[in-house]
Amino acid sequence: MVKEKQKWLIIANWKMNPVSGKLAKQVFSSVKKVANKMRSVDTVVCPPYIYMESLKTTGHRFVLGSQDVFPEPEGSFTGNISYTQLKNLGIKYSLVGHSERRSHGETNEDINLKVKACLRGIITPIICIGEKERDEAGEYLKNLKEQLVSSLVLLPKTSIKDIVVAYEPVWAIGSNAKREPTNKEIFEVVIFIKKVLSDIYDTKSVPPTKILYGGSVDEKNIESILKEGGVDGVLVGRASLDPKKFTEILKKAENIKR
Ligand code: PEP
Repeated sequence: MVKEKQKWLIIANWKMNPVSGKLAKQVFSSVKKVANKMRSVDTVVCPPYIYMESLKTTGHRFVLGSQDVFPEPEGSFTGNISYTQLKNLGIKYSLVGHSERRSHGETNEDINLKVKACLRGIITPIICIGEKERDEAGEYLKNLKEQLVSSLVLLPKTSIKDIVVAYEPVWAIGSNAKREPTNKEIFEVVIFIKKVLSDIYDTKSVPPTKILYGGSVDEKNIESILKEGGVDGVLVGRASLDPKKFTEILKKAENIKR
């Protein structure tokens, strides 16, 4: 049997940007031209909801994702977008539990409901976990474990190949980032996440869960993160809004063998 080649998974989180549909289309079409040509990279762009319908993707190498999801199928939930609505729009991925949403009150229980809703809608949840700070005693690992374990409550073993975990240390995200983690620090957390998953599920007998890193990824550090971080891909914030930087990230990933 020919083993399917593992691809890098690269997610663009546009957050609440850009400010107009016209600009969104411009960024999108520049990225699309490059992303559609990639053989070793799957690209997912997560734009604000209002732009989704006007941003058309073709094929499966370049698809749209959502920045959040509401765990009820339909009904009186003002301002929310459900997993059924996303599914019917053809959305394949959704971020869940991004630190910016957690900081506005999203709880581990909410995140668990959203993960399960995604799977009901055949949407791959990208579960974001990350500590606010690091401490020498390694307390942050307990926090990471709690975020991960609680997001998976009542999830059957057969589902863990259908989720993605993104390690996003809060201290390394955005323009206020304290510093970038070293690739060794990323690698250690990837191993830790695998261990937590294998302690809950017997992961030897199931296809592996993809693990991503996110936090200040750009065209300069992408190569070393993919080569040394032990990850299956990255989640990109700021640099994903700059087509030049983001397409450079895609091209560099394309040339790195897995
Ligand atoms: C993020 O917020 O998920 C993120 C990765 O942002 P940035 O790349 O801008 O640090």
